[in-house]
Amino acid sequence: MNQWVIKGLKTGIKTTQYPRIPELAPGISPGLPAATRVAAPAAASLVARCPTGALGIAPEGLSVDRRRCVHCFRCAPGADDSLDWELSYEWGRLSQNDDNQDRRLGRPFRRSAHILVVDAGDCGACLNEVRQLNNPYYNMHRLGFFLTPTPRHADILLVVGAGTVQMRHALGKAYEAMPTPKRVVAVGACALFGGVFGPSFACGAGVGDVVPVDVEVPGNPPPPLAILHGLLVAVGQRPPASEVG
Ligand code: SF4
Repeated sequence: MNQWVIKGLKTGIKTTQYPRIPELAPGISPGLPAATRVAAPAAASLVARCPTGALGIAPEGLSVDRRRCVHCFRCAPGADDSLDWELSYEWGRLSQNDDNQDRRLGRPFRRSAHILVVDAGDCGACLNEVRQLNNPYYNMHRLGFFLTPTPRHADILLVVGAGTVQMRHALGKAYEAMPTPKRVVAVGACALFGGVFGPSFACGAGVGDVVPVDVEVPGNPPPPLAILHGLLVAVGQRPPASEVG
């Protein structure tokens, strides 16, 4: 018998138990900054230090726009005047689109949903995290998520990247080709607002002006569990971030 079979039998099942049991393994998430009460001079210094305008002055101290955080860690513990840091990963939230309708897929999709992944100008980071969802540790098949290479079979369009000029047409065509009902999950700061690249001559301010985004997953890149949470929000199996605890 091959050695890897013996090793596998000895090791046992290592797949994460999330979402049945919260995942507490160290290093599972880089975390996100939390709004913190800080003194005025420190707050001004932190706001000036943030490269993407994620931090702002608020009456109660500092506000944090998590969609815009690119994980530069200039405000993380260890830096001068650091913010509180939340080591969570359930970051998927319903987008603040024009209407207040529930943007989750209905009950029929709770058992299985097919996902078309579109790289709309990704640097490789978010795509690499998406790729982890298929490995034995995250194993998204156990939750009924399957990848499909064709938009004709897709229920969810998962988009990474800032939406470059060259990809806008292809992204729109892929969305149009999907049957209804369908949902769009935008993954990563670039897809949400253009990240450090947009808006510019090469891309817009995220993919929201090409396709209607339903679920937003912040992070740069978001860890696999955050992406998994975004997918679970899209099919209605987990509450979105604003409704979590
Ligand atoms: S970690 Fe995020 S919020 Fe903090 S300075 Fe960097 S981009 Fe801004």
